[in-house]
Amino acid sequence: MPGSPCLIGLPYDASSSFLRGAADAPPAIRSALHSPAGNWWTEAFQDLSAPGGLMDCGDLVLPPDASARPLIEARIGRILDDGGLPIALGGDHSVSYPVLRALGPRYPDLTILHIDAHPDLYDQFEGNRHSHACPFARIMEDKLAARLVQIGIRASTRHQREQADWFGVETIDMREWSAGVRPSLGGPVYVSIDLDGLDPAFAPGVTHPEPGGLTVRDVISVIQTLPRPLVGADVVELNPGRDRLGVTATVAAKLVKELAGRMLG
Ligand code: MN
Ligand code: MN
Repeated sequence: MPGSPCLIGLPYDASSSFLRGAADAPPAIRSALHSPAGNWWTEAFQDLSAPGGLMDCGDLVLPPDASARPLIEARIGRILDDGGLPIALGGDHSVSYPVLRALGPRYPDLTILHIDAHPDLYDQFEGNRHSHACPFARIMEDKLAARLVQIGIRASTRHQREQADWFGVETIDMREWSAGVRPSLGGPVYVSIDLDGLDPAFAPGVTHPEPGGLTVRDVISVIQTLPRPLVGADVVELNPGRDRLGVTATVAAKLVKELAGRMLG
């Protein structure tokens, strides 16, 4: 376990604002990972099926209410205590807050790279401070990261723009990305990937598709050039019920493999 990336499924979607379904994502991503259509090698020629490669800590059993959050925080804490590098499979994006509650305090200089169409910085959404539209407001309030860098953003609001300024969030929106702006990052780094950060042409199986987003290759290139150490990651918001051909699960599995490879060296 020490130094190994470890999958941990977080089948929770009770903080979704629009449609449920993300709780079904962990088995769909696992199925894509294990599909004989692919293999366990990363693009950098790492065999994730070899000893010391990608481990699997299974799925957490989570109630569909607020009591899920301390369970997530405790489980991630145990993985970190064992020296593992968690790759959390959402679930809706609200799971990132308890994951970072466990991980953030262990890395005082942590940078979070957040890939998403949406900033998820609402102070509250429809009366819920733990909506999947809010996790990065909670993370910044609790000072769980030294820097929060967001890319893929193309569906913000005036309120969230003000929140980003208040918290000192570094935003590279899609207009800037298209003009060639790229983030300058330092380690340790945590990556949170909301699959709706990708363009729906590549990742249609999400609850909030937003045209004009990142390509799969954009995100892979970001992962492959991340500073080290990469100490944790999540891949969230796959909605298998909207993923008719399974292509979004396959994209999620590909990103998981490249994240694991970057963790390993
Ligand atoms: Mn989103
Ligand atoms: Mn999100």
